[in-house]
Formats: sequence, structure tokens, C-alpha cells
Amino acid sequence: MIMSSRWSPHPRYRLYTTRASYTVPLFNARDSVERFETEVCRRFNVAAAACVPMARVGLFFALREMIRPGQKVILSPLTIVDVVNAVLLAGGVPVFADIVRRSCAIDIDKAYSLIDGSTAALLLTHLHGETAGANPFREICQRRGLRLIEDSAQAFGAIECGQRLGTIGDAGIYSFGLYKNLTTWRGGMVVSNDVALIERIRRRVRQLPQLPKWHLLIRMLGGFAVDVATCPSVFATFIHPLVRQNFGIINRQLNPERDATRWTEVPKNYLRRMRESQALIGIGQLDRVDLDALRRIEHAGLYHDVLGGLDGIMTPQRCSDLSNVYTYFPIQITNRDNLLRYAQERRRDFAAQHLRNCAALPMFSEFHRDCPNARAAARELVLLPTYSRYPASEVKRNIEIIREFFSAMIYGAPKETASGVSRA
Ligand SMILES: *Cc1c(COP(=O)(O)O)cnc(C)c1O
Repeated sequence: MIMSSRWSPHPRYRLYTTRASYTVPLFNARDSVERFETEVCRRFNVAAAACVPMARVGLFFALREMIRPGQKVILSPLTIVDVVNAVLLAGGVPVFADIVRRSCAIDIDKAYSLIDGSTAALLLTHLHGETAGANPFREICQRRGLRLIEDSAQAFGAIECGQRLGTIGDAGIYSFGLYKNLTTWRGGMVVSNDVALIERIRRRVRQLPQLPKWHLLIRMLGGFAVDVATCPSVFATFIHPLVRQNFGIINRQLNPERDATRWTEVPKNYLRRMRESQALIGIGQLDRVDLDALRRIEHAGLYHDVLGGLDGIMTPQRCSDLSNVYTYFPIQITNRDNLLRYAQERRRDFAAQHLRNCAALPMFSEFHRDCPNARAAARELVLLPTYSRYPASEVKRNIEIIREFFSAMIYGAPKETASGVSRA
């Protein structure tokens, strides 16, 4: 038996907020945006960086500078809807390339076969903190004269062959949104070794109004509510019983993609420049980034030790260097809902990956492409918690329950649950 931590279960995610996330915005902070950019350049060894309102806006700005209207952009269908929106509004034609099941990154051979004379760029998504292999993609992009853009929104700090993700291609995008592993409540950054490109993006950002103080305050209040609800004692006592009872409803509410629609223009409230105080929060968090990653890698090691050997469950490639910062530990399993319910009933809190296969969404039907791997991954992905404040004892308990679920599947469905486990 594994010793449980005092408050169990811990929630599926917690924000990477600190006390400073709340106190810093109370004071005036001058020149912090510029300092944040300089500091990321220094630590990540990249020539230039520009803070942007959100990663999706940064992507939009970068694409506007890098492609001409009507040109194609190859990208992964397993991404947020607004990434596709950004490609479209920048004048690009999205071309979905199916993914590799295990890494959930675009399949390089499929991407290669989709390149034609009107392809301008390849957008690489480093999902779940794992590198999608920027160097091999850079090689084909250079050979075929394409621009390589790295969506590193989920992989801030990860390193491939000595280089930080986002700095390998022609431009890299980071997100400092509420649920990201460095959060400034909202925000993002574009980095590049092309100083002129960043200068052009910065000029666009300067034209935007600053995020109003009250708007930041509302985001902070929302974040505070999440921080309180996911505080282990509150979560275990009050929130988890609610989640357990209202499994479907709450999971739908927690899905940030549920209301995503196709843009006709970039939403006005997205076009708000980051405040100096937000950048100051970011600067204060930079020292933690690698330490948090190491902690998540330790958690991932525990998951790998056991889940890696189970039949019927797909785990990511094992790595202990920073090439995967394990923002989550993604597993793929055919009867996902049954596992989620089984786990919920045994006081575990996991999340289904909410990303959909954008190549099959009706709103993007003109760009439809059959992507069976993305379709399967969108249906089967479960994100096991790895966040740095998550206790190892909870990781072990998760593993125990998943193992139990699998033996129950093999040796007959457990009877005590009435909610459909036996259908497996
Ligand atoms: C979160 C995320 C984004 C968008 O980040 P924002 O800062 O919210 O715009 C883009 N791509 C991926 C893969 C993400 O996870």
C-alpha cells in the first residue's frame, strides 16, 4: 500500500502562480517588458524577443510578416482552434498533416509529401512539453525554402540538442496564459534570430492599447478562484466530490475549447498589449522554469516505470533530459471515458485532453483532410498530472489505480461501479 498524502486526491492541475503573481501588479513596474524580453534572449540564447498579448496573437503577427496571402501553412490538426484561426486571418491556407501517434507531433514524411510550390511555412507544435523534432524539420524547411515556426506554448524551457525549443526555427511562440507553466495571467512572446522580424512584430504590438488594469484584475480574480478551488485541502474536501458527481458537466465546463469558433477578425479583447507588471511577474518566474521541469521529469519517470510496460496503453517516449519537460504525462487508451470514470470514483482526478482534430471540424471544412492518427489521439488522450507541486505519492496512487483498471479489464469488469465500466 502506498502512503497517501494528507489531502487526496490532488487536482488534475494547479496554476503556476506564486504570491508575487498577486502582489507585483499592485506596484508600478517600468521597463519590465523590455527586461523580460532581454532576459529570455540571454537565457535562451536567441537574438530577439517581443512580448505579445497572447501566443495566438503572436502567431498571427509572425505569420503576417512571414507569408503572403494565399500561401499554404502546414500544421498539426491536434491544436487549439485559434491557432488555425491565426493562420487563416494572417492570409494562410491551413494544410493539416497527420501526427505520429506516440509523440502527437506532425509526421515528418506526411508533412514533406504535402509541400508544393505554394507552401510558405511549416508550423510545428511541441505538444505536452515534448519536442516535435525541430532540427529535422528545420532541415527540410531549409531544403525546400519554407519558414519554420515553432508553437512552443506548451514547451517553454524544453531543449533539443542544446537549443531551447522556439529558437531552432525561424520564429518561436511562447504562451504565458493562465494554465501554462509560466503564467503572467495572460501573455506570450515571439522569439527569433531574425532581429528585423521581431522589430516589425514589436512595432505592431506598440500600436495596441495596453491591457486595462481592471481587465487584469478580473483575470487575477478568476485565477484566485482557481487557486482556491485547487488548493489541496479545499479540493479534496469540497471540489472533488462535486466533480465526481457531476462528471460530465464539470468536464465540459473545464474544456477551454468548448466555445471555440472560427474568427472573422482577431477578437478585440485579445489585442491588448501586456502590462509592465505582467512582464515583471514573468521575470520573477524564469528561475523556476528548469527546476519545475526537473520535478515534472521525475514524476514522468515514475509513470514510465509502470505504465510503460502495460499493454493497451500508449506512453510517450522516455527521456530524462529537457527534450521533454512533461507539461503533462499523456497516455492514450481506447476506453478513455471508462478509465476517467473509474479513476474519479476511486478518488483520482485526471483530465481528458480537450484538443480536437481540427482537420475534421465542420468550421474548417474547406481544409478537411483525413488524419486518422489525430482523430484517434483526440479521442484517447488522457493527461496525467505532473505539475511541480503534485506530490510523488499522488503519482504512485494514480499508477496503482490505472494498473488496477487494466487488470479489471482483463480479468472481468469490476462490479461495484454502475457507471458503465463493464461496457469495456
Ligand atoms: C495554450 C496554447 C496556445 C495559445 O496560447 P495563448 O497564449 O492562450 O494564445 C497555442 N498553442 C498551444 C499548443 C497551446 O497549448
